Amino acid sequence: VAELDTGFFVRWLTETASAVDREADRLTELDSAIGDADHGSNLRRGFTAVTAALTDKPPPSPGAALGLAGRTLVSKVGGASGPLYGTLLRRTGRELGDAATVSREELARAMSTGVEAVAALGGAAEGDKTMLDALLPAVRALPESFTAARRAAAEGAVGTVPMRARRGRASYLGERSIGHEDPGAASSLLLVAALERSWEA
Ligand code: ADP
Ligand code: MG
Ligand code: MG
Repeated sequence: VAELDTGFFVRWLTETASAVDREADRLTELDSAIGDADHGSNLRRGFTAVTAALTDKPPPSPGAALGLAGRTLVSKVGGASGPLYGTLLRRTGRELGDAATVSREELARAMSTGVEAVAALGGAAEGDKTMLDALLPAVRALPESFTAARRAAAEGAVGTVPMRARRGRASYLGERSIGHEDPGAASSLLLVAALERSWEA
């Protein structure tokens, strides 16, 4: 079984930052339909700071890389997505402890705990039209492969289109939230797709 080292986790986070930067306008457009049109700029600001922090203070372990990224997102992103993604990365990192390398199966278990922490923080469940609709299927598929996880996240994100939002700003729209992809589910797909690319890199 191939092991994932600190370099892999740093690649994952910087690949995510590049994808967020490329897709920021699209994320903000999705958020303009059912939110307040800031999701792309929120995440761009956050992940730009993550890349800078990783360069400034090269982390000693996979867990430390995720912890640093999570703390940076919490401090730099004012919107709902900052604390939520921050919790995902910090909690996942804490589960990995100070191991020098982890297997994909170990990452899947740790991320599953991280995603549960996001659900607990935001009070959302699958089907509420949030980032969880991409993240939960992705972590369920992760023990199989990174490609399976990316496909599951993609299906999950598209699957939010017909949903009615029950959490976050989009829930204020009630029925009018139906027919639009959730911005957070779209950005979660970027995070999971970056995992696959970092593995192939
Ligand atoms: P804000 O809504 O504060 O402007 P963002 O636009 O950055 O924050 O992020 C919005 C995204 O955050 C939503 O598309 C949704 O996926 C996610 N989100 C919002 N509230 C919750 C929640 N309670 N639980 C899970 N995800 C949430
Ligand atoms: Mg917003
Ligand atoms: Mg906002």
